[in-house]
Parts: sequence; C-alpha cells; structure tokens
Amino acid sequence: ARVVDPAGTDDDRAAEAALRPRRLSEFPGQPRVRDQLGLVLEAARRRGGTPDHVLLSGPPGLGKTTLAMIVAAELERPLRLTSGPAIQHAGDLAAVLSSLDEGEVLFLDEIHRMSRSAEEMLYLAMEDFRVDVIVGKGPGATAIPLELPPFTVVGATTRAGLLPAPLRDRFGFTGHLDYYDTADLVTILHRSARLLGVEADDAGILEIAGRSRGTPRIANRLLRRVRDWAQVHGEGHVDLAAAHAALTLFDVDDAGLDRLDRAVLEALCRRFGGGPVGLSTLAVAVGEEADTVETVAEPYLVREGYIVRTPRGRAAAPRAWTHLGIEPPRSAPL
Ligand code: ADP
Repeated sequence: ARVVDPAGTDDDRAAEAALRPRRLSEFPGQPRVRDQLGLVLEAARRRGGTPDHVLLSGPPGLGKTTLAMIVAAELERPLRLTSGPAIQHAGDLAAVLSSLDEGEVLFLDEIHRMSRSAEEMLYLAMEDFRVDVIVGKGPGATAIPLELPPFTVVGATTRAGLLPAPLRDRFGFTGHLDYYDTADLVTILHRSARLLGVEADDAGILEIAGRSRGTPRIANRLLRRVRDWAQVHGEGHVDLAAAHAALTLFDVDDAGLDRLDRAVLEALCRRFGGGPVGLSTLAVAVGEEADTVETVAEPYLVREGYIVRTPRGRAAAPRAWTHLGIEPPRSAPL
C-alpha cells in the first residue's frame, strides 16, 4: 500500500477512529461547508425536527465520514453506517430503512455505487418516508407501503456528477469538500499529535503538512510514520529532522510525490522528451499496469499540473521539469 494513498486501509481505520473530530467546532478547514452545515443543523435543532438530507461530495480522505459522524453527534442521534456497494438489492436497503429509529442519521458512503433499484427506493423514502415492500413475484406481486419514521440521510460521494438527478434533488443541502491548505493541515496535525500523545514542533508539523497532498488522511498517516521513526531513532519528538528522515525512508518527497509519481515523471521527461506519449507505452516504461498509472499516479499529477492529458497522449508540463531539476529540451511539447 502507498503511504500517500488517499483511500483508507484497514490499518488506518483503527488509528483514524481516535483522530476524528467529534464536533463541528473542532473540525478544522472547509469553512463554507462547516458554516452551512452548522446552520442547517442548528435550525433543525431549534425546530425540534430532522434536518434536510445532506450530500457530501469530494475526493477520498477529506472528512466526509467524519462530518457524517458529526451530524449525528450534533443532533444527538444514533448513526447507522452503510455504503453503496453493500446495498446491491432494493431489499438490502428496505431492511436498513425499515429498522431505522425516529431521527436516526443514515450514512450512505459511496452512494453513487448503489444499484438502480435501490436508488429509486431511496429517493422515495427520502421524500415520503415510505417504502413499498414488494411481496410475491410476477403478476401476483403486490406492493405493501410501509411508513418510516423521519430520518436524515447523509450521503457521501467522490463523484456527485454520477448521481441521477432525482436522487441528487432529494438532498436539501450539498456540501462540496475541497483539498485543505497547508495552514489547515498544520492545525489538524497539531491536534492529531496531541491525541497520539507525541511532542511535535512547528517545523516538523509544517514539513509533514507540505507533503500531505491537501488530504488529512494522508497527513495523519505520515504523522504516524514520522512518530514511529522518532520513537525508534530519536527521542520521540516529531521535529524537522525526524520528518525529513522518515519521509525520505517512505519515499515521499517534498512535494508529496512518491516513487511511482516520480517514475512516471522521469519516464515522461527523460525517455520520451516530455511526450506526448500513450498511456500504455508510459506504463511499460515504468513497469506498471496502464490502469495503475492512470488511476493511482495520474490524478494527482494532473491536478497539480505536472502532466497534461492531450488527445495524443500524456505530456510533461513545465512543473514536471522543474520538479526533476532538468532543463526541458527545445522540442518539449508544453
Ligand atoms: P472521507 O470519508 O472523506 O474519505 P474521513 O472522514 O474518513 O474521509 O477522514 C479520513 C481521516 O482524516 C480521518 O482520520 C479523519 O479524522 C481525518 N480528517 C478528515 N478531515 C479532517 C478535519 N477537517 N480535521 C481533522 N481530521 C480530519
């Protein structure tokens, strides 16, 4: 597993549970979403009712699950967690919905990956607090309506655009999470260090923040590796030297690029003169599957402006040359 993978692993889950902010007031970053969500929740609390359904969209590791937990905590309601891939049949969803208590918060992670039939059931349930349970098969099948107590759905998706409009429209509030800036990551890391019980100074924390790709999950994971290094090789203090040494050991450079990212840039610039070069050719040059290059390395490299996708293949942008410290040839495409 890559240390800069924005998706969580099993190993992360246990460690992350302790690091999640529990309240909106302790949630650093995302000020718009935080303020908007705070208003929606406070208004619902004053009315004594359930708030509108909430959709959270944005890349992995930015705090969607954390915010869902916060919604339940702020409303002082229980939280039920499930995910799109776990709901393959409408019946799976009916079972969850029919067991909800009044006011319960239902977190549906990766909501864009639910089956079509479950989606339809969900948006009716969200609107009318009712599900039609189908009994029997074929022409004799009948729909028995089942009333549900009011509840709140918090949906999370990395791809809001993939949600069908009728489902998207059932969410009264949509919050879009964006990558965090360094200052917010510094706040998050100081808080995490405190919770982990490790001493950390500003320079060490800043160094980790700068390599975390704007993603709290990665920041927390890098912090744990630096802590490990400091405990084994040092006095246990997370400082600049520990951050440098640990992140060098784990191959995360000062821009947050790892070995695969750099291999892609090296191949693109040194072997193919900056491109454009086809994805499969590039993948062969770095000894990886095309799919790995495309889904694992490329999104961040494209987002950060190291490479550009052109109709004729991948091309190195000026930032790629600068990062590698090489002079682009006259023939460089960009
Ligand atoms: P997502 O559901 O978007 O993939 P999570 O909510 O699971 O992301 O967050 C991943 C990790 O990052 C968790 O350990 C969480 O504590 C941490 N995290 C995310 N956002 C924040 C934040 N704003 N402040 C502190 N920690 C955060």
